[in-house]
Amino acid sequence: MSIPTDPQVTVVKRQNLKTNFSRNTPAFCVYPDCERLRQPDEPPFKVCASCRSVQYCCREHQRAHWRDHKPFCQLKASEPEMSVHTRELEDFARLHYRSFGMGLAALLRHGEPVDWSKNVVIFELASTGSPDPAKRFKLVEAHVTEDESHANTPLEEKLAVYRRTTRASRTGVDLGAGYIDYAICFFVSERSIFYAAHSMYQNEYYPCARYDPWYILPMTWIGHGLVWSSANGVTWPGVMKKVGSKWVWKEQTKQDLQALGLRFVGSNIVV
Ligand SMILES: [Zn+2]
Ligand SMILES: [Zn+2]
Repeated sequence: MSIPTDPQVTVVKRQNLKTNFSRNTPAFCVYPDCERLRQPDEPPFKVCASCRSVQYCCREHQRAHWRDHKPFCQLKASEPEMSVHTRELEDFARLHYRSFGMGLAALLRHGEPVDWSKNVVIFELASTGSPDPAKRFKLVEAHVTEDESHANTPLEEKLAVYRRTTRASRTGVDLGAGYIDYAICFFVSERSIFYAAHSMYQNEYYPCARYDPWYILPMTWIGHGLVWSSANGVTWPGVMKKVGSKWVWKEQTKQDLQALGLRFVGSNIVV
């Protein structure tokens, strides 16, 4: 299994608990020769009945992948059900994918050199009680740490599997212009942890002003519930608004953002 690039999250659906991942996780086939994302008009992908943690576009790919999937499957099947809190954490991390990414870009440019094959990034979050999925947590601080092996804990075993998959995906795979590597990021709250491989992006479109510390800008955006959305290389700011049972992204004008208390220098939002 390689790690897919996160597509944009613009609608946050309510959870059902039939699978062991968030309902807002993008559906993609984990068979390495496929890795296809589900198209909006396609029927739902099939979920592995044993671990309920991975999806396939067809039975053939599930069968072809079984030998490689089996160890991961057994590990996942032996774990407790993913809690609602963890699902919220996952949705939050996906909504703020670009804010976290912009923080990582600033770290790449201005921070101490980091060996991404050995280090992990820890984002420490605190619950806020807000019903808005983009404001359910606030970013308290972030740091880069050595990924020391503490073998035998369930988390370390999962991480080992994850590391193997990201390493494998690095060999022979062109990550695309501007992408340099994967960073393994932990989103840690009082009650649970969600982690994901975050593609490391470095190009001139990302605002990389030096803030000390490097996560101040994402921290500010997240604190205001600001969610970046992008298409065709252009990124717009917005917020999540409730529509029926879903939370939907809505673009915000400069005036809207100023009303939220965000300050500008030219067209750039600043702290
Ligand atoms: Zn497939
Ligand atoms: Zn499975």
